[in-house]
Amino acid sequence: MTPRRLLTLATALTLALSPAPASAQSRGIPAAYRAAADSLIRAATRDSAAYDRVGRLVDGFGHRPAGSQSLEAAIDWVLAEMKKDGLQNVRGEPVKVTHWVRGAESAVLIRPRRDTLSMLGLGGSVATPKAGITAPVLVVSSFAELEQRKADARGKLVLFDAPFTTYDDTRRYRTEGPSAAARAGAVGCLIRSVASNSIRSPHTGRTSYDSTAPRIPAAALSVEDAMMLHRMQDRGEQVVVTLKMDARDLPPASSRNVVAELVGREMPDEVVVLGGHIDSWDVGQGAMDDAGGSVAAWEAVRLMRQLGLRPRRTVRVVLWTNEENGVDGGKAYRDRHAGELDRHVMAMESDGGVFQPTGFAFAGSDSATALVRQAASLLESIGATAVERVSQSPDADIGPLVEQRVPGIGLKVDGTRYFWYHHSQGDTLDKLDPAEVARCVAAMAVMAYVIADMQDRLPR
Ligand SMILES: [Zn+2]
Repeated sequence: MTPRRLLTLATALTLALSPAPASAQSRGIPAAYRAAADSLIRAATRDSAAYDRVGRLVDGFGHRPAGSQSLEAAIDWVLAEMKKDGLQNVRGEPVKVTHWVRGAESAVLIRPRRDTLSMLGLGGSVATPKAGITAPVLVVSSFAELEQRKADARGKLVLFDAPFTTYDDTRRYRTEGPSAAARAGAVGCLIRSVASNSIRSPHTGRTSYDSTAPRIPAAALSVEDAMMLHRMQDRGEQVVVTLKMDARDLPPASSRNVVAELVGREMPDEVVVLGGHIDSWDVGQGAMDDAGGSVAAWEAVRLMRQLGLRPRRTVRVVLWTNEENGVDGGKAYRDRHAGELDRHVMAMESDGGVFQPTGFAFAGSDSATALVRQAASLLESIGATAVERVSQSPDADIGPLVEQRVPGIGLKVDGTRYFWYHHSQGDTLDKLDPAEVARCVAAMAVMAYVIADMQDRLPR
């Protein structure tokens, strides 16, 4: 019998045995993809390969701020490892990145007593004069209170002591506080760290100046120090601080987005992107923000290849550069791939920490949401089936793609501990749990595989 004849016979036999046409959509995603999903989940959770890889990345290179040698060395290492993994089209795509450096910095309490405060300058901040700024402090709890006490703010260091509620609400003091303080006549701005728990460690993050106000130096104090200064003010004591910062912007630096693929077997031009950001702040190790998300996406694609699960469409892992100080990598990816964005089926990111996954946040149409929910139902054994529909991009680096109508999806995890460590010296490997990291890999792998393999393309 010729091979062709054998094939025909096999096909006839398959058709005879199948109760319904075998296309994925007609059988429903859960039935069509149960076996593939289970094998991806088993492979991801059988060992601590992903956690070990996060460890080699963060112990080997430390933190990875944009413009640093450590970031570029980490990128070189990831590219070499991806090639060893057998991924395809492994490359670094050039990106010009903001190059802000912190320099020496300090905040010293002068009155009512002398003490060193625990501080970190905010990313993008300007420097103080060399001798620093010594000024009385006005503590306010909110933008509204600053408005009421505007007359008191002139010539002062304004401290926003705003308790953490949600990240999106509280970080407004970090991003908008310095310009609000400057408009009120302040000479510098301090904020209470955007953190949901603290052991007196300050948390940095990007600030932004608006064009209508003078650019004044801006730093975060630890939660404890901000609360102490507030108590001193409430007792009627005059609070005076000397803030010294040597921060500056250097000329833009050269970096790269890391890109690697598993090329699709039927529709290689259609792409499902998944990734995280390879840069971090210049403190801690950037282990949960975002070495963990980067490695989870990378491992998801490595496991598909290892298991011989090559989807119909291409899966492309992208580790964006400089998310933290301007989303330069996310914007550059959109621009470089502008001609193929209509063939981007979905973009997925993990940038909320690789803790126990609970599901996904999805920005897309009704019909697409229904299919994503079906795919997520395959993650019941690891507890990651919830799909929350969102109107904005769930993560920063895929934001420029979502703006171009690419459906966007973010991995959601138990966020209890993330803002304890985020952007601080405490963001180190030991805070992560190997089994939780593995389940994040499984969740990303199953979702990316199903969406890349479905017979019909995910609708927009
Ligand atoms: Zn991040």
